[in-house]
Amino acid sequence: RKYVYDFAEGNRAMADLLGGKGANLAEMTVMGLPVPPGFTITTEACRAYLATGAPPQGLAEEVGEHLHALERAMGRKLGQVDEPLLVSVRSGARFSMPGMMDTVLDIGLTDESVAGLAAWSGDERLAWDSYRRLVQMFGTTVLGVEPGHFSDALRAAKLAKGVTGDLELDAADLRALTTTFKNIVREHAGREFPQDPREQLDLAIRSVFESWNTERAHVYRRAEHIPEDLGTAVNVCAMVFGNLGDDSGTGVAFTRDPATGAPGVYGDYLADAQGEDVVAGIRNTLPLHRLAELQPRPYEQLMAIMRTLEEHYRDLCDIEFTIERGKLWMLQTRVGKRTAAAAFRIAEALREEGVIDADEALRRVTGAQLAQLMFPRFADTATRPVATGVAASPGAAVGEVVFDSATAVRRAEAGAAVILVRKETNPDDLDGLIHARGVLTSRGGKTSHAAVVARGLGRTCVCGAESLNVDAANRRFTTADGTVVAEGDVISIDGTAGEVYLGRLAVVPSPVVDYFEGRRPPGRDALLQAVDRIITHADARRRLEVRANADTSDDTRRARRLGATGVGLCRTEHMFLGDRRVLVERLILAETDAERESALAALLPLQREDFVRILEEMDGLPVTIRLLDPPLHEFLPDRTALTAQVAVAQALGRPDAPETLLRAVDRLHEQNPMLGTRGVRLGLVVPGLYEMQVRAIAEAAAIRVRAGGTPRVEIMIPLVGDVRELDIMAGRARRILDAITAETQFPYEIGTMIELPRAALTAGRIAGSAEFFSFGTNDLTQTVWGFSRDDVEATVFPAYITEGIFAVSPFETIDRDGVGKLIADAVEAGRAARPDLVLGVCGEHGGDPASIGFFHDVGLDYVSCSPFRVPVARLEAGRAAV
Ligand code: PEP
Ligand code: MG
Repeated sequence: RKYVYDFAEGNRAMADLLGGKGANLAEMTVMGLPVPPGFTITTEACRAYLATGAPPQGLAEEVGEHLHALERAMGRKLGQVDEPLLVSVRSGARFSMPGMMDTVLDIGLTDESVAGLAAWSGDERLAWDSYRRLVQMFGTTVLGVEPGHFSDALRAAKLAKGVTGDLELDAADLRALTTTFKNIVREHAGREFPQDPREQLDLAIRSVFESWNTERAHVYRRAEHIPEDLGTAVNVCAMVFGNLGDDSGTGVAFTRDPATGAPGVYGDYLADAQGEDVVAGIRNTLPLHRLAELQPRPYEQLMAIMRTLEEHYRDLCDIEFTIERGKLWMLQTRVGKRTAAAAFRIAEALREEGVIDADEALRRVTGAQLAQLMFPRFADTATRPVATGVAASPGAAVGEVVFDSATAVRRAEAGAAVILVRKETNPDDLDGLIHARGVLTSRGGKTSHAAVVARGLGRTCVCGAESLNVDAANRRFTTADGTVVAEGDVISIDGTAGEVYLGRLAVVPSPVVDYFEGRRPPGRDALLQAVDRIITHADARRRLEVRANADTSDDTRRARRLGATGVGLCRTEHMFLGDRRVLVERLILAETDAERESALAALLPLQREDFVRILEEMDGLPVTIRLLDPPLHEFLPDRTALTAQVAVAQALGRPDAPETLLRAVDRLHEQNPMLGTRGVRLGLVVPGLYEMQVRAIAEAAAIRVRAGGTPRVEIMIPLVGDVRELDIMAGRARRILDAITAETQFPYEIGTMIELPRAALTAGRIAGSAEFFSFGTNDLTQTVWGFSRDDVEATVFPAYITEGIFAVSPFETIDRDGVGKLIADAVEAGRAARPDLVLGVCGEHGGDPASIGFFHDVGLDYVSCSPFRVPVARLEAGRAAV
């Protein structure tokens, strides 16, 4: 078993074993780029260490051999007294976990070799500063001494000298401080700071292994969905010094702008400094191009290396480098993170340059990134945020501040836009969240209650804005600079960036949406050009059609502009809200045929008119209209309110009208409305209801034909569990349709939703009577898991996500193993029974970027989603096909 690899022995494909950093250092070494010599201890060694608490057999010997090779390459020995070789020991897992694990620099400095470093560098101050930093870093990370002891001592040293900055301490001060630091180690770690360089190295390696298991590393991995059992690699690398004077320095660089994707190198440089100084932000960095004047030769070399790296990785690379006395060293590279906009621009630019092909460009962007580009944003980029937090749910929301749910509801119902501000939210805040434009919390991360619920509801959310002091009792919050924001004051929150602003910022629609809706040609806008090219390619490659869930003619028009090729779900219950609700109430409560027929007769023309307009907007393309499917109670007066009314009426001696109504409501009351008189059951229980709807659809289609249109209607029967339910309803529907098409011809199909486990399990039989299936994954998820879809996202899921039971709500991303398995089986059985069965999905998952690949894989014909998500679905359908 081999636990240690020289940089020259690895390559970038070995990231599982060598970690991301180690694999890329190896790749650069093999490419012949100037990487300081070094070696990587594998993640396997780390896993073995963590399992047993001791380094695996043979590791010490292997480290020894590689250390000797390193010493030979450098011509110096670790910690030798004159011109010592020093090494850095850095963590590096498979996935980047910035700042989460340990790093120890300057390993090899001892009481003796510190003089050697002073002589070699010609800088006594630098030598003692490096040594005291090593004792401090080693003391805290490796030996577990409280960092406060060291920082207190440093502060005391400055106070004694009457200075404020570290830089004002001279070599003698730092030498004295080093002695103090070593005393701190002796006192608090119960041992001497080790003077044997090899012992320093071995202890540092162990401490990096152990840092995999710190609390913050666990928290980070949970948040980023990084598996717990990977372990980290350890990179041991010869130290190079960027702090040896003006001809030395350190910097970071990107081969393109990671914020916008614009071509040209970007980066920062700090002369006479080490990497840590750049991160610490003690001194201001220079833009990278200034290096051209300061150090023309290393600059030229760096530019050439960046071109080489980008060609080699065929992607944006980010780089850390150091210049030691005019010589350039590469300390790290990787394919760099980027914004959503940059992802599109870079993918398209690389395609244009011929570096990657169009399929690869499509693979390089995601539907989630496109969705980000489609949210509205604040027009003004000059205003400074008063706080930043976690970007938990995207969008730009402006509204008056409220501190509790009841006020949110009251103000929203009075027409105000409100932002709910809380320390953290809990299930009692649900009503407030529903009524708010956005939510802001001072505690919690991406999986907090506020974040999960806001994403589910599509509300903008910034959470964990810790600098804010939220004082809900006194109805105000205070910003870090002391500004007090009271209830009713207006704030603006940016859920895409995680920023909070005072006052009202102007919100502008996304240019990407303007482009998709045809209001704005790409012109010379590089981002729009990239989106245009990539979505065009996705359309050419995808097999899945994309339809829209649309209940109104406005939604239908919008969906078509956004690229939908049909309506996959028109929920007719949405047409019965508002003024029309009483008509349905009359229908449901009707006690005589005459009452019922008059209610139906009043509804018919209204429905017909709705359908005419929707069919007109989607002319020539399929429109799937679903017959009524609400839980019954949604159309009845509220029982509690009615009970109160009856009590009042009785007290006043007028017991008549409300009481009859209450009796009817009581008769129809259900304990579990979601499992009660819904869908096809309603059609079977309320005579004439579905027939009225079918007639309205058929008459609407006939009107469209006579107007010269080409309607393509698909009638969909919901919540079917048994083929006989479908047979009865479909039979009645056909009789009506046949009578009308006998006069005016138009094509129609009758199909069903598959949204109950029994329907999925008997899909073969159901397909005998259905011309299409549309998977209702909302109800299917609800019934397969037994999760109430209206409740659990707020009440149960935050805990489930924290406990790692699932990483994302199964109502958002399809549960492949359970719900997905039922779908796959139903697809197979359905197609076996009827080879030309048309298959789609119209639950929320149809527009979820992370689920669309699954629907492609199981062989559906289309996905249907809300109009706004149509472009995202087109893109993901294309990605699934390449
Ligand atoms: C479904 O259940 O997935 C579906 C699309 O129907 P609804 O959400 O209207 O119940
Ligand atoms: Mg449903």
